[in-house]
Amino acid sequence: ANRKFHPDDSAVDIGGGIKLGGGHFQLIAGPCSVESAEQILGIAESVKASGATILRGGAFKPRTSPYDFQGLRAEGIELLLEAKKKTGMPIITEIMNQNHLPMFEEVDIIQVGARNMQNFELLKELGRTNKPILLKRGLANTLKELLMSAEYIMAGGNNNVILCERGIRTFETYTRNTLDLSAVPMLRELTHLPIVIDPSHATGMARLVKPMALAAAAAGADGIMIEVHNDPANALCDGAQSLTPAQFSEVAEKVRQIREVI
Ligand code: PEP
Ligand code: MN
Repeated sequence: ANRKFHPDDSAVDIGGGIKLGGGHFQLIAGPCSVESAEQILGIAESVKASGATILRGGAFKPRTSPYDFQGLRAEGIELLLEAKKKTGMPIITEIMNQNHLPMFEEVDIIQVGARNMQNFELLKELGRTNKPILLKRGLANTLKELLMSAEYIMAGGNNNVILCERGIRTFETYTRNTLDLSAVPMLRELTHLPIVIDPSHATGMARLVKPMALAAAAAGADGIMIEVHNDPANALCDGAQSLTPAQFSEVAEKVRQIREVI
């Protein structure tokens, strides 16, 4: 992952003519969790119309409480694939267990969530695939640890790694996490890998997503991932940080404008 051995920025090939990194910016949007066919198809159509290029949706959910909604699991992936077929958008969804890999065959980007950033056996298994992997920074991990986790995947031969800053734990409690935006220029110095910012999990508050998304675009992120829900108040997961499709459309337009001037 070290910039020293790879002076040019890497562009990860997502398929379908889409690349992320090396000058290719992608806007990832969708619900925290896939909840139904109607929900994911509706959101997919609307975020696509607003300029999102990759569809997100959780099927296997790493919830703090075992009594909270755990995701639709295999059915969630099926519904994402249906949305992919309908809209042509590549999809990203989280894996929590290497035994589930066969279910991810047609998934375009496999996400490793913050809680699994140092699940080294999972990382090694993903290193044996050639799938694009979006690796999220752990809740209390340094950038060096994030890069070493990327190395676990790359050491197995899979160089298709995308890094994601999603906020870290600090003493501040107003926001869900603290967005470490300096991760963008810092990682840019250290590594050739693409860098995505997730302002939704970083802040936990829908009204803070727009300013942080714009800041991420200004800082030169290669991608921004935003949670969007058709009915945030009744979302099964992360409603408080989810934008409505109309709010997302506004953010997407502003991000485009910022990218034009940087
Ligand atoms: C997510 O993106 O759905 C998610 C669970 O995020 P994180 O792993 O960053 O908490
Ligand atoms: Mn979420």
